[in-house]
Amino acid sequence: MIQDRQLIPDVEAARARVDAPVLIRARDVTVAYGREPAIYNISLDVRAGERVAIIGPNGAGKSTLIQTLLGLLQPQSGTVEWFDLEGQQIGYVPQHEGVNWDFPVTVRDVVMLGRVRRMGWLRGPRRADWQAVEAALERVDMLEFSDRQVGELSGGQRRRVFVARALAQEARLLMLDEPFSGVDVQAQNSLMDVLDSLNRDGITIVLSTHDLNLAFQRFDRVLALRGELIAYGKPRDVYRPDVLAKMYGGGLALVENGHGVAVYVDDHGCDTC
Ligand code: ADP
Ligand code: MG
Repeated sequence: MIQDRQLIPDVEAARARVDAPVLIRARDVTVAYGREPAIYNISLDVRAGERVAIIGPNGAGKSTLIQTLLGLLQPQSGTVEWFDLEGQQIGYVPQHEGVNWDFPVTVRDVVMLGRVRRMGWLRGPRRADWQAVEAALERVDMLEFSDRQVGELSGGQRRRVFVARALAQEARLLMLDEPFSGVDVQAQNSLMDVLDSLNRDGITIVLSTHDLNLAFQRFDRVLALRGELIAYGKPRDVYRPDVLAKMYGGGLALVENGHGVAVYVDDHGCDTC
């Protein structure tokens, strides 16, 4: 597919997005499953056309935050507002573990669900709907897999099918929960290329990831989360030793490589040396 790899976010484009309209605004959002809040006092804006990466260790509340922004979870306190945005215009690619892959449904049917979400169940799919499904599958380079059962696909392919579903539903904003976990580098690159290409067409991208380098290199803004919001801003402003120490403890280092890109060095999980 599209190979026009952008290693460093386009600074001019990022600057333009600072003035873009807000699509989602969260203010002082606290969400708890039991008594203990999973995320607390989160405030953030997502602006049209941005690429936002949510980073944080396991249990940091990334999925909770995404589901709250989507309206699937209700905050105990605080508010989430959508501006000029309807539910059907938000595409959601859930975390892999949260989906049952055993159901017997083809790739084409999964993507058609995006159309159904747009048009409701009252009328059956029409030619234009099947065409939209084909176009969406083509866009994510999955057209040749249309008749496959989703259960037979690799993790990376399934994510692309979910992205196609969002396109079929004419989403303007895509939220992806750890779309790169458990996929190989090649699948990660092809999914990221699809996302970049959609973003160039104006689709806003919000995703969570463990991959600090990817978040740094390919996103306009990074949100560092660990229960609370530790930092939210341009990658260079977020990737500071104090922020990373709050997120992951010691053992991380920021290194500038030849591209002027910060990479981190993980420790080997040893507390005693
Ligand atoms: P992440 O996606 O960053 O790994 P989560 O949002 O899944 O984090 O989880 C944040 C916290 O909320 C964790 O402590 C987790 O155990 C807890 N949690 C998540 N989902 C549930 C749930 N359905 N019921 C109870 N606790 C939950
Ligand atoms: Mg999660």
